Amino acid sequence: MFRRLMFFFCATALSACVATEPGPVSQTPYEEPVVQRSDTKAIANYRRVSARVEPVAESACRSLYPSIRIEFCDFGFEVLNDPKQPPNAFQSIGRDGRPVITFNINMLRTVKNDHEIAFIMGHEAGHQIAQHINQKVGNANTGALIGGLLMVAIGADPQAGLDLGGMIGGQAYSKKFELQADRIGAHLSSRAGYDPLIGAESFRRTQGSNGLLSTHPPSYDRIQTVEQTTAVINAAKARGEVAPIVW
Ligand SMILES: [Zn+2]
Repeated sequence: MFRRLMFFFCATALSACVATEPGPVSQTPYEEPVVQRSDTKAIANYRRVSARVEPVAESACRSLYPSIRIEFCDFGFEVLNDPKQPPNAFQSIGRDGRPVITFNINMLRTVKNDHEIAFIMGHEAGHQIAQHINQKVGNANTGALIGGLLMVAIGADPQAGLDLGGMIGGQAYSKKFELQADRIGAHLSSRAGYDPLIGAESFRRTQGSNGLLSTHPPSYDRIQTVEQTTAVINAAKARGEVAPIVW
């Protein structure tokens, strides 16, 4: 469902999600993508895919959390039309408590096909289904506390420790979270009728990173994770079954 995005729950460390966006310490100047499509076409593609992914994501979410508050699984889909932003997609929580999946316009201009849109949507829905935002906030707070205490112990500015500790803490599990979201993304995009292997091809175009502060696991790990998950999905499909979502 399309609606105006009221509120971004998270900023900086919490928001970034997709392989094409640079990590926090490896910012590179944004260059215009080589392949561009018109905004109208890009948004039409997004609407077409979200119409198929939304019911699948909501139904999977509700079957995993049958007694959770109703808005938890009520996904909204947004496009952030800021042509200056590098390609990105992320999940946030709206003021009404609903999860919102947002693609910016340059992400929509650079994806190659519907399979990629569906996989990224499924990945972002996966962050909600695995309840990553709450866990990230908890990790960030713990990291900030430890960082602050360390700085006080060595007589340095505690605020510097709070900032650095918070940043590291907030990302302590993010590589694990990204792979978990990739597993869920493979299930959801497959259930919506797309091929997760084609959907994850974007990883081959982006550079993974092993840096301490990078939020994203190396592309190889992500491709391997999607391949393994898709093998399980397809094996179940061959038996006439639907593979349960595990992450
Ligand atoms: Zn992510």
